[in-house]
Amino acid sequence: MGISRVFVANRGEIAVRVIRACKALSIETVLGVSSADRETMGARLADKVVCIGPARSTDSYLNRQAILATALATECDAIHPGYGFLSEDAEFARLCHENGLIFIGPTPENIRRMGNKLEARSLAKEFNVPLAEGSARLYSADEALETAEQVGYPILLKAAAGGGGRGIRVVDAPEKLKAAFEGASAEAAAAFGDGAMFMERYIGNARHVEVQILADNHGNVIHLGERDCSLQRRYQKMVEESPAPGLSDKLRQQIHESAVTLAKNIGYVSAGTVEFIVDMDRSQFYFLEMNTRVQVEHPITEAVTGVDIVAQQLRIAAGEKLDINQGEVKVEGHSIECRINAEAPLRGFQPSPGRISRWRPPSGSGIRLDSHGFEGYFMPPYYDSLLGKLIVHGKDRQDALAMMEQALAGFEIEGVETTIPFLQYVIVNDDFVTGNFNTRWLEKVATTFLESQAVDS
Ligand code: ADP
Ligand code: ADP
Ligand code: MG
Repeated sequence: MGISRVFVANRGEIAVRVIRACKALSIETVLGVSSADRETMGARLADKVVCIGPARSTDSYLNRQAILATALATECDAIHPGYGFLSEDAEFARLCHENGLIFIGPTPENIRRMGNKLEARSLAKEFNVPLAEGSARLYSADEALETAEQVGYPILLKAAAGGGGRGIRVVDAPEKLKAAFEGASAEAAAAFGDGAMFMERYIGNARHVEVQILADNHGNVIHLGERDCSLQRRYQKMVEESPAPGLSDKLRQQIHESAVTLAKNIGYVSAGTVEFIVDMDRSQFYFLEMNTRVQVEHPITEAVTGVDIVAQQLRIAAGEKLDINQGEVKVEGHSIECRINAEAPLRGFQPSPGRISRWRPPSGSGIRLDSHGFEGYFMPPYYDSLLGKLIVHGKDRQDALAMMEQALAGFEIEGVETTIPFLQYVIVNDDFVTGNFNTRWLEKVATTFLESQAVDS
């Protein structure tokens, strides 16, 4: 392959995932770590480890110049950005190319166009991908008020540059609009350096359904089926599954086709995900956004299709043609992922950093754990609290649920609190088991979980 040494510009479980994929392809790895991450699983596994800066991510994992300089000094030929951090930074991707480094991801132009939700919406419209009723950029709270009258309440305010659930607000009445608009815009300006806002009709009974795309440099674009990521807290995903339950074959196929159409028409290259919101009352789907990177929940797609998405990213970046075509993609069985965070569910999901004193992960046929955790690992307080992802692959949904129940019950972690007790409560809930849920469901379950625990103790 045309890539022989990769610089891994990330941390946590995704750094481990990328290093393992490289090893399997006999590619060497250099991991850039912050001073707080020298004793990590990624640092143990990488061929070489270089400190790129202090704990604060703006000085390390987001420090473009330090990363570029280190990748060049260690003679890497490519950079894998993982997710988060610099993965959707078009300027960083451009700087990589300018310095003769392959950015393992889409083109800077792909990232730029999809990074702005307003531009992404206008592209979707151009290619006849359905959009929820919404607005152009809103320049003031007054303009938002006028527009909301036409769209109809409830509406959803969104930051054009938003991501990770930030800069989003539901507004159900005009008197609440001004404060929501200003709050969300300020949040987006602080988080993304861009406070531009727009609105969409708020879909109350919705599912989040997204399509995994793979596209090479030779014009081949395929999809690997869809994932349901409706179980969210604060617009952040917690449990995901593939295939998505409760969709008609026709709707599922239309969603796949729309995703491929969009990717093809924008000349997309690499792995990417097109997200949709499905209005379950109208059986209609609408484009949400495209994530131009590997997604946290990619393993469930790998489980049901047998395709290694990170290996494909590497092959595509090396200029190779996709080695599978659409007809060869088969979805087999059912896969579920639970995100395990070092958080205290009983204390408002507050982060719970600290040293892991006991670590006994479940294992067995059909069980996969993507994690950087180990006994003795100190989970630092500076970063995302994701500690790992537990993935099961069963013959059908019921089978996968039973496997997940057992796997969660068999996972022993001490020293930090985790979301495992909450996940155990969620996956046996009748509504979830029978497929009677939407994007608002998990928030309600979080409330009943708290009540149930109060009764128990
Ligand atoms: P998914 O979980 O589907 O992969 P998310 O949107 O939840 O996608 O984002 C994954 C990670 O990337 C999270 O850690 C999130 O905080 C981070 N992230 C997403 N968008 C941005 C952004 N625009 N800027 C910075 N971080 C982001
Ligand atoms: P982010 O970039 O933060 O991931 P998204 O546009 O993907 O933002 O939306 C995040 C989540 O917000 C979705 O998964 C969904 O749960 C909810 N959401 C987004 N748009 C709508 C809408 N129009 N109606 C109802 N819920 C929505
Ligand atoms: Mg999203």
